[in-house]
Amino acid sequence: MSHVIHRSLAQVPLVAVGGKGVALFDQAGKAYLDASGGAAVSCLGHGHPDVLAAMHRQLDQLAYAHTSFFTTEVQEALADHLVAHAPAGMTEVYFVSGGSEAVEAALKMARQYFVEIGQPERTHFVARRQSYHGNTLGALAVGGNEWRRKQFAPILMDVGRVAPAYEYRDRRDGESQPAYVARLLAEIDAQFQALGPDKVIAFVAEPVVGATLGAVAAPAGYWQGLRALCDRYGILLIADEVMCGMGRTGSLHAVEQEGISPDLMTIAKGLGGGYQPIGAVLAQHKIVDAMRRGSGMFQHGHTYIGHAMAAAAALAVQQVIQRDQLLPQVLARGAYLQKQLHARFDAHPHVGDIRGRGLFWGVELVQDRSSKATFDPAFKLHAKVKAQAIAHGLLCYPMGGTIDGLHGDHVLLAPPFISSEAELDQVVERLGDAIDKVL
Ligand code: PLP
Repeated sequence: MSHVIHRSLAQVPLVAVGGKGVALFDQAGKAYLDASGGAAVSCLGHGHPDVLAAMHRQLDQLAYAHTSFFTTEVQEALADHLVAHAPAGMTEVYFVSGGSEAVEAALKMARQYFVEIGQPERTHFVARRQSYHGNTLGALAVGGNEWRRKQFAPILMDVGRVAPAYEYRDRRDGESQPAYVARLLAEIDAQFQALGPDKVIAFVAEPVVGATLGAVAAPAGYWQGLRALCDRYGILLIADEVMCGMGRTGSLHAVEQEGISPDLMTIAKGLGGGYQPIGAVLAQHKIVDAMRRGSGMFQHGHTYIGHAMAAAAALAVQQVIQRDQLLPQVLARGAYLQKQLHARFDAHPHVGDIRGRGLFWGVELVQDRSSKATFDPAFKLHAKVKAQAIAHGLLCYPMGGTIDGLHGDHVLLAPPFISSEAELDQVVERLGDAIDKVL
């Protein structure tokens, strides 16, 4: 009998008792290769000595001081680090405890910005179908995951909705990539027009969609077109990099690869690498400046914002990434993983698509490769693959979901940046064995 409200109320999960490098250990002593870092969190793996040492030092000095009285040296140092490596113009950081909180804060900051500059009539957000931005009510509202939203939909704010940028399923036969991008952007423009472009606060999207689609990046030119479209109407662009950010795709921020700078960007997961719960919003100077000149504050706040221990852990994680040059390593190991995934699954009858960037990969499972037909949701393919992967000592992130009425299944991989080629071989081998056992 567990008194914890677990994710599934039907069963108590495995008990984790230890972690070292790319492995986690359960109570029975079984080792699991952590190929998803939970949900793309543990970018440095487990028990990294330099992060633990920095956390011990911080704990000896100060664990927590409330931000209504104090800032801390470590929070300031982390902000300095993040701004020094941020996309152009992002000069301020707001710290929170995780991804959903970061998205909530970004939505409110965007709204407050327009109130401060005398455009209070801007009240709408536009976001994409089949996206995930978190589970709190504001984040859930902008998210387009139908299964997560369904029972809460009547109490969520109304959000303008457009198509995801999902080439594998949505680019039409014979349609060129630029034509597909133009169609997607035209739909966004039409949505802005329908709401009234001067009524829209922001467009919210993940540069590389994680949980709901499985490492799906938009086609080339989409983000540049989106940036231009938002600029045309003075609409803010919020990039949710909670999952795809902080080095996961091989650049510190995924938007760097798109050649644009968003107005607001949310980060979490890999920021603290799982050593502490921490997230943040990076903001363009004009947004914070408007608040500074206006009401003089961001009207928001939580008890644990800027937590010193969380900031110390995140700073140490980010310093290790820089010191050990892990971003080029993510690109190199990512290319290796890509090659191994193709070698194992290219001829697999139930693998429809393999896509990703850096060490962020998705394998889409289909009943039939040529028709792209999906499995019946009642088959619960993703749950079966997850169970088999666990049995094979592999932690990956299989997901199923409905997109425009069509159910799809994929497996998301987000191994630690420190994974060796031999460990990545093991990931691919165990995943292949798990899928073959189910299908
Ligand atoms: N945004 C994205 C893109 C995410 O993938 C997630 C979590 O998976 C969130 C927001 C919410 O983050 P958290 O679970 O830390 O609240």
